[in-house]
Amino acid sequence: MSNITFTMIKPAAVADGHTGAILAMISDGGFKIKALRMLQLSQAEAGAFYAVHRERPFYTELVESMSSGPIVAAILEKEDAVQAYRDYIGATNPAEAREDSIRKLYGKSIGDNAVHGSDSDENAIIESNFFFNTMDRF
Ligand code: ATP
Ligand code: MG
Repeated sequence: MSNITFTMIKPAAVADGHTGAILAMISDGGFKIKALRMLQLSQAEAGAFYAVHRERPFYTELVESMSSGPIVAAILEKEDAVQAYRDYIGATNPAEAREDSIRKLYGKSIGDNAVHGSDSDENAIIESNFFFNTMDRF
């Protein structure tokens, strides 16, 4: 169990103006922001980030949507961060997500579900390294 996880605020949530509210919820949930960046992924970068899903039927749609506009990427710290954050954001499908969770409040569909959260300590490290140099971490 590690104290680090990685998150992205997805393009639709950024475009809809929810960045500030989501960052506030992250802080209110006791997650400390260790690194933060706004950027737009190319299709190739989005494809590489989600390469584990390349055989899934929604892969093309996922890559399109994740590269469709700017995202906000962050490294978060909290005890048992990966599981704590997945609990906090709610289920993948916003319609099934816990009341008051980030995905329930700001997700529009299973594809545009407001945020990404790492699914293991190993992937939290891989995903953090995908976006952040050591100099950009605090
Ligand atoms: P994430 O990895 O983004 O934190 P997750 O771990 O809850 O989400 P995954 O199974 O890893 O869910 O799916 C990755 C992303 O692919 C989801 O966040 C969602 O945007 C998209 N996705 C998953 N299932 C579907 C689906 N059935 N239809 C469309 N998009 C989907
Ligand atoms: Mg996942």
